[in-house]
Amino acid sequence: MNESLYGRLGVPVIVNAKGAATRLSGGVLHPEVTAAMAEASAACVDMLDLHAAAAAEIAAATGAENGLATSGAAASLLLASAACMVGLDPAAMARLPDADGLKSEIVTIRSQRNAYDHALRGAGARLVEVGLADRFAGAGIRDAEAWEIEAAIGPKTAAVLWVASARARPPLAEVVAVAHRHDVPVIVDAAAELPPAAKLRSYVAAGADLVAFSGGKGLGGPQASGILCGRRDLVMSAALQMLDLDLRWSDFDPPPSFIDKGLLPGLPRNGVGRPCKADKGAIAGLLTALRRFLAESDDERTARWQAPLDHIRAELDDLPFTPVGGGIPRLALQLADGAAADRLYKALLAHRPVIHLDHSEMEAGRLYIAPNCLAAGDAERIVEALRILWPREGGR
Ligand SMILES: *Cc1c(COP(=O)(O)O)cnc(C)c1O
Repeated sequence: MNESLYGRLGVPVIVNAKGAATRLSGGVLHPEVTAAMAEASAACVDMLDLHAAAAAEIAAATGAENGLATSGAAASLLLASAACMVGLDPAAMARLPDADGLKSEIVTIRSQRNAYDHALRGAGARLVEVGLADRFAGAGIRDAEAWEIEAAIGPKTAAVLWVASARARPPLAEVVAVAHRHDVPVIVDAAAELPPAAKLRSYVAAGADLVAFSGGKGLGGPQASGILCGRRDLVMSAALQMLDLDLRWSDFDPPPSFIDKGLLPGLPRNGVGRPCKADKGAIAGLLTALRRFLAESDDERTARWQAPLDHIRAELDDLPFTPVGGGIPRLALQLADGAAADRLYKALLAHRPVIHLDHSEMEAGRLYIAPNCLAAGDAERIVEALRILWPREGGR
């Protein structure tokens, strides 16, 4: 079906062995997820009711007080930034992204700066960088330290950002401790940290005030879906700045568990987060993916992803593959040098069907095969391509 739809549009179907990259359209959704999207799309609901139901499921899955379904982790970050700047003040919501006079600085750790923190600035915040990551420069062993974060916190500080990864320093617990000492919330970008499933809860448990997860990466939800979870009032603020609230005050009757009307002086109009809206189909798909993710153990998930990698290794047992562990297992393919890896990478792009590998370590001569976005038959397509191309491009 997909073949014929994309064929009609003249859009080539690719083999995605890179992983859930946005530029490669993310992954392949489980039929239960697409069925939920189709079912949700066939009827109309009040979005406040659907968002409240999603909030309850997200809260239960993460241990957070409140949750919001968004159009992606980047959207969640924009909303988190907006929430931390204005709280539950509708007049301040109306001013964003003009943040003059508001708490509008977000302290960020220099070594954690990345392409996605633009989303925080999108709401009007200014990033204040701290720390010197000389451990990455080969000139030292240190990175940003908690006292440097504390020194950057002042009357204009809206939040501290911590981008989750195995390499992130200082540890989240230290960041939370200094931020909370000054009543400043901590935003955690955990977009790509799932699985393991334990991370759904661990950042909230460690004291993070808002956590952003991507729905379209390890969770297996729609590409344009995401989660924001955390403190009740901050998630409430995020929701108020995203939702369509073209209502009279007297008609506004949200479930108080999601939005407590009693805390508001009035109803904000469409906010700075309006472009982050999640569609009902995406919310249904996200919740179904979340339920499936929780129902499967990390071991079962790893075994499911390991199977196509094992097939590739068994069929091409003369190639220098090394299995790599982690939340999502991968196969590393080691070539002589970066130039050789580049040649094989390009040959796979010139192959039909086009095959995308993860080339993030190409300079070291390494290409990776990720299993989580492969469609049925793709492992065999990779085997067939490498059988042809390896002797020409890969051999020394
Ligand atoms: C992928 C990613 C995002 C964006 O996630 P989307 O769901 O695609 O919006 C944000 N931050 C980090 C660290 C990411 O890896």
